[in-house]
Amino acid sequence: MHHRYLTIEQRETLTNLVRSSVAPGVQLEIALKRLHQPDYGVCIDCGRDIGFVRLKADPWILHCQACARLPISASQ
Ligand SMILES: [Zn+2]
Repeated sequence: MHHRYLTIEQRETLTNLVRSSVAPGVQLEIALKRLHQPDYGVCIDCGRDIGFVRLKADPWILHCQACARLPISASQ
């Protein structure tokens, strides 16, 4: 399986988005931490790339388009 990890520029864009968004402090911390993980932008269910466009629309997103359409199973 191969991933197209986000570029530094894309990560910066998302970091700024998260920072400027109105979010509860704790969530913000988590999101910023996640942003610096190498696997940020990878679906937590199937491990595929979520995609920069989706992340830009919602930096908090944890699932790819395919998994987001599926009913939530055991994941929170
Ligand atoms: Zn997925």
